[in-house]
Amino acid sequence: MDSYRNFIKNNENQMLSLLSELISIPSVMGEATDTFPFGEKPAQTLSVILSTASQMGFTVTNRDNYYGTVDYLPDASSEPSLAVLCHLDVVPEGKGWTYPSFSLTEKDGMLYGRGVTDDKGPAVSVLFALYAIKKLGVKLSKGVRLIFGTNEENGSADIKHYLRNEKMPSMVFTPDASYPVINCEKGMARMNFSAKISNCDIISIHGGQVINAVPSDAEAIINSKYYDSAKAFIEGSNNGCVYSISERGDTVSIITKGESAHASTPENGINAITGLLQLLCSLDISDNTTAKLLSDIVRLYPHGETNGNSLGVACEDESGALTCVLSLIDAKHGKLTFSTDTRFPRSMSCDELKNKINESISKTDITLSDFSGTEPHYTSPDSFLAKTLLSVYEEETGIKGECLSIGGGTYVHGISGGVAFGVEHPGKDYRIHGADEFVPSSEFYDNTVMFAKAIEKICR
Ligand SMILES: [Zn+2]
Repeated sequence: MDSYRNFIKNNENQMLSLLSELISIPSVMGEATDTFPFGEKPAQTLSVILSTASQMGFTVTNRDNYYGTVDYLPDASSEPSLAVLCHLDVVPEGKGWTYPSFSLTEKDGMLYGRGVTDDKGPAVSVLFALYAIKKLGVKLSKGVRLIFGTNEENGSADIKHYLRNEKMPSMVFTPDASYPVINCEKGMARMNFSAKISNCDIISIHGGQVINAVPSDAEAIINSKYYDSAKAFIEGSNNGCVYSISERGDTVSIITKGESAHASTPENGINAITGLLQLLCSLDISDNTTAKLLSDIVRLYPHGETNGNSLGVACEDESGALTCVLSLIDAKHGKLTFSTDTRFPRSMSCDELKNKINESISKTDITLSDFSGTEPHYTSPDSFLAKTLLSVYEEETGIKGECLSIGGGTYVHGISGGVAFGVEHPGKDYRIHGADEFVPSSEFYDNTVMFAKAIEKICR
């Protein structure tokens, strides 16, 4: 048995007891005060892990309860070369738990509780990995900094605070996503559009709940004179949506059901909004402005298309294909607004996307009222950091490692030289953000060994 594994074996109880203490604090974002930027609970978890690290003999700092650092440097004057980034805040428990959500349960080789995988478990593993290196007297020539943030789930204001205040090491990895290594994350843009609509034909339209998902529900209230043509469309339609139509006095309600999916993988969903618009567009609407508006939206965002082709923004490279979802819509009192979530590959930029969209809508009455975007994130797969992490993954799992590109953003998005490394294994669902979030106990310890070896290889 190698020395790291042996050390971890002898420290299992301490690891479990720290994890248990962290899980028992419901560190969901709370109300900000002068002392606690994200509420009291996230700060409480930070103080627990920092005091453990301090007892282990590390140099610790708490930065205004935004985040804390744990440093292990070969000599006190040196700067850390590697940062490992974890977060201690969690999402709310939600419904449907079999086990207590804010108490660690160990059963049949599994650990259950909110945060065991995302991301308190990895935080404990990383701390004990560094402790193993220290206690076993492993010689490092480069310094290591662990960063424990407390706002990952709500916009990562912790990292923004870090970048305002101190220097980030040139190599950073976060065990807050998946193995093997994620080196490329698409850019993301959220756009709001608006237009005028007459409300004598279309009384209201409403669809979608959040901007980052394919909408599963949409409803329109329309003038009852369109009842027959709406019914005819529904009978002839075969587009994956399920429609129901009902008369209410001199109006008609049309409810459309699709299937939700994350906006980064829209091909897995069925968009209820574009399905509804397709129906509305088929009704020979008498008001010309409204008829043209509906046909423009349907032309630019056709039902079933997720790559932005009709918008003129489709593109693809080694980081994947652009995805575009019309995820929210609202129309009433003469105004229609809709929102989209777009994930774009690294060969595109926010400006280029915005310019192309503006060009596509230039001959319509649609206005782009708001654009907010993040550029793609990329660290070379040939970087020393990515290659070293992949080699450790291969040694530990026996599986060929490769760099991955994803449509979502991880904790290192925008941090130069950053990649994600662990802890979910590909193809496995650990129910993070859901009920009965878990991690197999063996993986909790294996992750610790993996991190110790990774830190040693990168910093020796
Ligand atoms: Zn996380």
